Amino acid sequence: MTPTDTLGRPLRDLRISVTDRCNFRCRYCMPREVFGKDYEFLARDLLLTFEEIERVARVSARLGVRKIRLTGGEPLLRKGVEDLVAMLAGVPGIDDLTMTTNGSLLARKAEALAGAGLHRVTVSLDSLDDATFAAMNDAGVAVGAILEGIDAAAGAGLTPVKVNVVVKRGVNDAEVPAIARHFRGTGHIVRFIEYMDVGHTNGWRLDDVVPAAEIVAAIAAEAPLQPVAAGYPGEVARRWRYEDGSGEIGVISSVTAPFCGSCTRARLSAEGMLYTCLFATGGHDLRALLRDGADDEALAGALTTVWEQRGDRYSELRSSRTVGLPKIEMSYIGG
Ligand code: SAM
Ligand code: SF4
Ligand code: SF4
Repeated sequence: MTPTDTLGRPLRDLRISVTDRCNFRCRYCMPREVFGKDYEFLARDLLLTFEEIERVARVSARLGVRKIRLTGGEPLLRKGVEDLVAMLAGVPGIDDLTMTTNGSLLARKAEALAGAGLHRVTVSLDSLDDATFAAMNDAGVAVGAILEGIDAAAGAGLTPVKVNVVVKRGVNDAEVPAIARHFRGTGHIVRFIEYMDVGHTNGWRLDDVVPAAEIVAAIAAEAPLQPVAAGYPGEVARRWRYEDGSGEIGVISSVTAPFCGSCTRARLSAEGMLYTCLFATGGHDLRALLRDGADDEALAGALTTVWEQRGDRYSELRSSRTVGLPKIEMSYIGG
């Protein structure tokens, strides 16, 4: 039976981080000063195996999870990730199997991922300007490589492709209308994300956040928009469609208009910690259970207990007091 938490929210989505490593060093996520060459990432034997991940997914699906998103770190860095996709595609009850990626390896991998049964992808791309993009990813990756990845994903049928753009004041906010224009009419859905105070290394300040309402107004000034009803309960993005029928955009306003009330997401870190909020300060060790020989019933019981105790609503409670608190890094917990 599907557990509900203390605020009446069911468990529906599972975000699985398959690695804490990344080939980018986005300033807002893995700043190079912290994630430098001496940074110790998780050792291989600490990572959940594909079989362990599939077991958690299978048991979660029995409990009501319908949507799985693979993430990281950069999920395409996990060796053989398409084999994991194939295993998850065979889990009964999952009707949406997707991945969030920085897109840098997608041109090479899109066909294999689609062949393995991935339904669609979300590609992160913060700028169409090489200098701005390089400053944001701090890894010297050019925009063209990501656009090729997006084309390859669309060509492989991983559609609709969503494009995540984190908007940071004074960095890429002036580019918002141009990014929207670039993808208008392509069938890809751009989702503009308010910069969040996730983790504690990115030096987040409220002044850096561009409110979703400002983002929508900037786009609508060029191409009128009308709101679209949510596709399903718990959808993170507020959706807007172009009045002329040339597509839609989304905005994820976790700072200015939090959506904790409909948050049905659990997160599994690469080493098997289960978190019930992106801003959690602690998790629950499923790897220990799995490696101690717990059967599916015990695993289902543990997941149910964790979920039934959940009361997280960080974004609704966000204040000057919460912002500086220690939190888990997004590259670890999974975006
Ligand atoms: N590496 C993959 C990628 O970048 O798509 C997947 C993991 S990443 C942590 C998932 C998403 O979180 C990305 O779209 C990224 O832009 C977003 N993200 C990371 N740090 C963020 C922050 N501080 N505020 C808002 N979004 C953030
Ligand atoms: Fe890597 Fe994604 Fe974080 Fe950028 S946002 S550093 S691509 S994990
Ligand atoms: Fe869900 Fe936590 Fe984000 Fe609120 S702050 S929407 S509870 S992940």
